[in-house]
Amino acid sequence: MRIILLGAPGAGKGTQAKTLAGKLRLVHISTGDLLRENVSQGTDLGRQAKDFMNKGLLVPDDLVTEMIIKRIDNSDALGGFILDGYPRNIKQAISLDESLKIRNKTIDFVIDLAASEPVIIQRLSGRLVCSRCNGNYHIKNMPPKTTGICDSCGSPLYQRLDDKEETIRKRLEVYKKESAPLIQYYRTKQKLYQVCADDEPDVVIDNIICLLKEPDDSVKV
Ligand code: AMP
Repeated sequence: MRIILLGAPGAGKGTQAKTLAGKLRLVHISTGDLLRENVSQGTDLGRQAKDFMNKGLLVPDDLVTEMIIKRIDNSDALGGFILDGYPRNIKQAISLDESLKIRNKTIDFVIDLAASEPVIIQRLSGRLVCSRCNGNYHIKNMPPKTTGICDSCGSPLYQRLDDKEETIRKRLEVYKKESAPLIQYYRTKQKLYQVCADDEPDVVIDNIICLLKEPDDSVKV
């Protein structure tokens, strides 16, 4: 199964994709995580991407698309994957469609995690991320058992540079302009399902699983 998770920053794509990948034995592919790994390893790609990311802007399409296609071709992704953070605009969606078509593959489900702006800002401004396994926490909503330490792997947690309030606002602006049109793109292709992402993570994941088990046309938008 090949799934795309859409949604604004803070809608919970990373958290849901990680849980879903575990439950469905699919590979979770997050462009944000891959880019951050490149930045921390100081690769060419990381050096080119860093400034865009810190400003809350999109990294140029060609760079991200090359990275994601390589990742999809990896043997562990042949059985299916969940894309989190890609595509981020129509140009990327077209590139993805073309690349999959050449490989005789297609996307099965596109799930839009619909979250309201106050919830998004509250989530992002308190988000903490594990420096090793990319696990997500929240200062209030989902605190780690030990302050500043990841429950799963024991590594330090940090606040992302782009989770500062002014950068959050920029990222939301970019989302509305560049990424929101993807909803119409996938709606036209009759692949789009919508799930309310304001609820607690456990409720959201249950709703996603129900949807994948029994795709219900009433939530197809
Ligand atoms: P995320 O972790 O998904 O919030 O992504 C963090 C940052 O990585 C974004 O604000 C962008 O700068 C960059 N990024 C992630 N995915 C993409 C993409 N598909 N296209 C361009 N830039 C991206």
